[in-house]
Amino acid sequence: ETLAELDERLIDCRACPRLVGWREETARTKRRAYADWDYWGRPVPGFGPPDASVAIVGLAPAAHGGNRTGRMFTGDRAGDFLYSALYDLGLANRRTATHRGDGLELRGVRITSPVHCAPPANRPTPGERDTCRPWLARELRLLRPTVRSAVVLGAFGWQAVLPALEAAGWSVPRPRPVFGHGARSTLRAADGGAPLTLFGCYHVSQQNTFTGRLTPAMLREVLGTAAEAAGL
Ligand code: SF4
Repeated sequence: ETLAELDERLIDCRACPRLVGWREETARTKRRAYADWDYWGRPVPGFGPPDASVAIVGLAPAAHGGNRTGRMFTGDRAGDFLYSALYDLGLANRRTATHRGDGLELRGVRITSPVHCAPPANRPTPGERDTCRPWLARELRLLRPTVRSAVVLGAFGWQAVLPALEAAGWSVPRPRPVFGHGARSTLRAADGGAPLTLFGCYHVSQQNTFTGRLTPAMLREVLGTAAEAAGL
């Protein structure tokens, strides 16, 4: 299985009734500003090259962001905050992400999320996180030959990514590393392959960026350190 094949399968997934209902209802009712849009309304696959050395793991697509455009962090302010930082580090060729086909390309970075469908109030349930985990685990396993660091945005993603990394072939230390902004942990590969360095970072949600809890400099710092750890 290649990443492209995985993405093709993912976009047909209907395993979470509540999320399927919400993503489709949002796509039907739309936000007035996007009335002309043909919303994506399906699971949003990871974005970035299949041989990425840094994985960025978020939370879930936004109802009128990724769920509208069909690409991770595309079409909302959280995305522009993230892509702007990647641009500053030379890891993206544009500061903003508006739609698939806008020319945005990432260098050595793949962005994904533990839940691939937009949840009501941006809050997936633990059950939905568990149901979606095999998709994340498969994606991480496919990235294993090249991925050397992972930046996890927020505590929810952190909780989700640890078992997914374990399923993908890394050993998570015990006691389990605790999420925090700036948290850092090294995971050995269970088969003696290359280790992965895990970084915690506050999520790029407007709640965090408007209040200054997460500043552009703080995000750049974590992403830059992760890129360096991965040899980018
Ligand atoms: Fe499928 Fe994941 Fe969407 Fe649930 S959240 S329907 S498991 S893609």
